[in-house]
Amino acid sequence: MERYWHWSDRLADQLLGLNKDTYVITAGITPSGPVHLGSVCEFLFPEAIYRALKLKNNKTVKMYFIVDVLDALDSVTVDLQDYSDIINQDMGKPLKLARDPKGEFRSYAERYVNELRYVMSKFKVHLELVEVSDMYDQGLFDKYTLIYLQNIDKVKEIIQNTSGRELPKDWNPVMPICSKCNRIDSTRVISYDAITGDYEYICNNCGNTERTNIKEHRYKLQWRLHWPSWQAIMDSDIEGGGVDHFTKGGSRDTAVRIHTEILGRNPPIGYKYGFVLLDGKKYSKSKGVGMYVRDMIELIPAEIIAYHLLKYDLEENIDFNPTKEKILGMIEDFEDAAKIIPSDNLTRGDRKRYSAFRLFGRHPKVAFKEMLLYYSIYRDWNRVKIHIPIDEYYTEFIENWYKRGFVPDDYDFSYKPKKIDRFRDLVESWNPNMSPLDIHNSVYDYAQKNGVAANEIFKYLYNHLIAKDRGPRLGKLVYALGVERVKSDIL
Ligand SMILES: [Zn+2]
Repeated sequence: MERYWHWSDRLADQLLGLNKDTYVITAGITPSGPVHLGSVCEFLFPEAIYRALKLKNNKTVKMYFIVDVLDALDSVTVDLQDYSDIINQDMGKPLKLARDPKGEFRSYAERYVNELRYVMSKFKVHLELVEVSDMYDQGLFDKYTLIYLQNIDKVKEIIQNTSGRELPKDWNPVMPICSKCNRIDSTRVISYDAITGDYEYICNNCGNTERTNIKEHRYKLQWRLHWPSWQAIMDSDIEGGGVDHFTKGGSRDTAVRIHTEILGRNPPIGYKYGFVLLDGKKYSKSKGVGMYVRDMIELIPAEIIAYHLLKYDLEENIDFNPTKEKILGMIEDFEDAAKIIPSDNLTRGDRKRYSAFRLFGRHPKVAFKEMLLYYSIYRDWNRVKIHIPIDEYYTEFIENWYKRGFVPDDYDFSYKPKKIDRFRDLVESWNPNMSPLDIHNSVYDYAQKNGVAANEIFKYLYNHLIAKDRGPRLGKLVYALGVERVKSDIL
């Protein structure tokens, strides 16, 4: 067995090995579309490291989530297809300068930054969200931009060498935002002064040329320099990324060399994580309705989503497919993890489940499935409360399952008793002192004694209780309905 039960433990120890008073965790995201499960990992994984660190050692930890609102708008997302005309007019502009096509927010970026804030609040994470344009406006990048301009040949060599890509002759670290048409993807620096920061650019879209200075903050650095720069500005100790950044020739390789050879500092600790998949496809490309996280968190508690994203190995691809038939199993898996007692005898899988629950768990007062069963019968929490204690936290999710048609088939029923003319002696044998398991077993005993298939009895009784061929476990159902009530209704 490995020394660490969970990757967050290993990374927290690696951080503590730096022996600092304050630790800085950074992460980043481009708010170009609705929050999907891949975006959740971008803030959840740093949060897991934060929590693992706090469990070991109560040192100060700062955590910044850099939101790249200066990235160029480059596609129409599925949820905004109806607004493609407006969006297409704004293509190539930084997300912050593109319009919100519905006119509800001040910019395209604001629409999704808002959504991101909302989703993050549901996960109760500790990252401070920082819009990268604010960092530019404060002049935090200026120093680095000058360093890159002054060392442009070396910087260019590092990028070419680490990416394996030839850069154009007139390549420049600065990506100007055109002052006429606002595009960032069509401009090119044609001359610059590496001491003063003056530069001149031309826009291939509108033909504009202009002399300006980096202190005007109408530019962004090329991505492979942008990334190590914000890490240096924040004095980051650790920042991870998906396999696309951490693959050979990816931007992590560039960042490491920029830190050590140009900025003269240690690069942050890096870690690589896998994709979240839906039926084998990357979530970010998923077009499934209801699969956006803003919808998912109405159906599944955020803690349970977090648990399921954290119970894997870090570099493993995560298959996450919350269909209405699977969600209940996911919730039960989470509730079972609450009961795991740590010991050396745990399997590797249970060690990870235990660790994921320790980071994001919430001990339920009563099983979700139990509440779902009683709610299916009574459809009124005040009536449910007469029979079982309820966990208030779960009530809104169960109600949402009903509102949105997310109740698994076995629980999607109403009580419609009909008189029976078969198996009467079985039902007559039930009494209120029997447990759900006793009732369940009585069917098997009866089946064996009378040479009838148990399935036939179950099917018959479900049909006479809830007018369906199947349902929740019969013992549980009869117990929840009340043995006396069932007997008087169907006998
Ligand atoms: Zn222009």
